[in-house]
Amino acid sequence: MKRLANFLMLCLLLNFVVVASFFGYVYVHRDTGAVSSALLAGFTSLSPYPVSYAGPQSQESCLDAYCFLKKNTEVCLIERLEDSRYVCGDNTVFLTADSWQNDTVEAVHEFGHALDRYLHGTTVGYYSRQACFSDAYAADCATMQRSFQFDDLFQTQTYRNLAVSDILFAVFFEDTYASRILEASYNTAGVPYWRHEQEYLSKAENRQTEVFADIYTILLSDDEEAKNFLWQNLPACTNCLVRAVEAQVW
Ligand SMILES: [Zn+2]
Repeated sequence: MKRLANFLMLCLLLNFVVVASFFGYVYVHRDTGAVSSALLAGFTSLSPYPVSYAGPQSQESCLDAYCFLKKNTEVCLIERLEDSRYVCGDNTVFLTADSWQNDTVEAVHEFGHALDRYLHGTTVGYYSRQACFSDAYAADCATMQRSFQFDDLFQTQTYRNLAVSDILFAVFFEDTYASRILEASYNTAGVPYWRHEQEYLSKAENRQTEVFADIYTILLSDDEEAKNFLWQNLPACTNCLVRAVEAQVW
């Protein structure tokens, strides 16, 4: 009887691993800035974290920019969500029809890269790699790396915001210990999260570019807790992005 129970437990565990692996696979997103990268993510066992994008609770200027970018950026429809990306050289977003029509988190993030290119000006490149944002990023990172409390974050629901997780893995990329805490915390919580692949993130300028797109993603959402997270932890970056967007006529 005990053997049978052990056998059933093993089957249950295997089932969990198979299901978990499937969700892990589903949440692997490709995302290309100047360099090819992949968003790697953990698996989920909880219900999805509800966030809607490009609605009335979006930051006003960011929403104006989004409407403009949707009309003025090349779009290539793709089959697989994990192939979502932005190619700066062609000013093209690659999105599934669902992402494009329903303004999903993937769509908003990729249009965040299109915004980054637009703010850079006429030549190909990213505003997030210019001095204003670079300096802001360095300042915010220094503060976060000195005093950020992971325990506090995981007491709230904010960590479940995909863009928040992507920001954290970028900011703490060079801190192996903090990265391990983050990874373990997400895996223990069993929620989906975003994280770009290591090789891509090893370049500081790629981290800046992804954090820029993630900040834009949050500003264009109805997740007020995540917006508070931005203003508390990345005030210089968020201010720099918002001011740059507000300075444009959309
Ligand atoms: Zn990206």
